[in-house]
Amino acid sequence: MNVNIPVIKSSMPPYEEYIEEIKDLWDTRWLTNHGQKAAKLEAETAKLLGSEYAGTCVNGHQAIELILRAYGFAEGSEVITSPFTFVSTTAAIVRCGLKPVFCDIREEDYTLDPNCLEALITDKTCAIMPIHVYGNICDDDSIREIADRHDLKVIYDAAHAFGVEKNGKKAGSFGDAAVFSLHATKAFHSIEGGLIAYHEQDLGMKLWEQQNFGISSPDTVSCVAPNAKMNEFQAAMGLCNLRHFHEYVQSRKQCYEAYRAGLKDVPGIYVNEIPQDTVSNYAYLPIRVVEEEAGFNRNDLFDFLAEQQVGSRKYFWPLTSSFPCYNSYKTTETPIADRVSEQILVLPMYSDLTIDQVEYICNVIQKRRAV
Ligand SMILES: *Cc1c(COP(=O)(O)O)cnc(C)c1O
Repeated sequence: MNVNIPVIKSSMPPYEEYIEEIKDLWDTRWLTNHGQKAAKLEAETAKLLGSEYAGTCVNGHQAIELILRAYGFAEGSEVITSPFTFVSTTAAIVRCGLKPVFCDIREEDYTLDPNCLEALITDKTCAIMPIHVYGNICDDDSIREIADRHDLKVIYDAAHAFGVEKNGKKAGSFGDAAVFSLHATKAFHSIEGGLIAYHEQDLGMKLWEQQNFGISSPDTVSCVAPNAKMNEFQAAMGLCNLRHFHEYVQSRKQCYEAYRAGLKDVPGIYVNEIPQDTVSNYAYLPIRVVEEEAGFNRNDLFDFLAEQQVGSRKYFWPLTSSFPCYNSYKTTETPIADRVSEQILVLPMYSDLTIDQVEYICNVIQKRRAV
């Protein structure tokens, strides 16, 4: 068994399958600009995500910027979000000329806490951007209800939630729009890539203009926009991975169960629980390290795992609100997010991870306890 275990490894379809998928690009010579493969990926993912439409683009980060720009919010408007996320969420808001307002998260699933939401709404608020962290679906009913009362858009950062369902509802059906990342490290990927799941047809043209220099007809440019299109080689990888997505999730699920079994009796170590009503994609394996019970803290465990050649990731630490370029936006306290980010550690999880490797990792964690 290979005991040098990275925290993440990209899923790959069989080599021949990808080669077969890209073969016709040598005939069509249509390599980008919304080719057939991107269009097919959109149609198939919209079905899987439960949205009326899905739009591709170059990466998940741009997908967030595109949807924010497509809505045309006034400069300086406020977007309520959580700081317990990948920096991309906060960066996109700021880069679009909007102001992030940081809301605390819930202890049990790390998603935006609707109970803290309403106090943060001002007459400048234009949207709420919660994150389905680790594929944990936000409390959409409560968020929606508050958003409707104040006439706000709800845009989910669903980068972690491809293929997840809650209560029979698919991840792309929540919110006015939901943004997915198809980055190589995600549970489903197209090397790099982004998807916007949305429900109003009008948005489609706007999203396209926002990723294609604002060109609305051969002679017209209607807005200032960059190039952020998905190319056909990316889309081809997406189509191949889509055929195997279910298999990938099944292998991850087995790893998840092995982790649960291997860590259940380790004091102070808590594995993220998947609620009964949720069909997970098992994208990540976050654990909480509670020092008072474990006898060591998250950083000790990170170091110990690294010594044993097991990769792990302090994901998400630091909070985005504490980076120097964003901390001027921090106007409220987020005590739960502060604590969770000190305790959280993401362990290796990918479709090629073996049960032996998971057991080895659990043994290493038990050994740390005995030190
Ligand atoms: C990965 C990720 C993004 C950015 O996606 P890219 O495809 O890497 O640009 C945004 N938000 C979250 C929560 C992510 O995990």
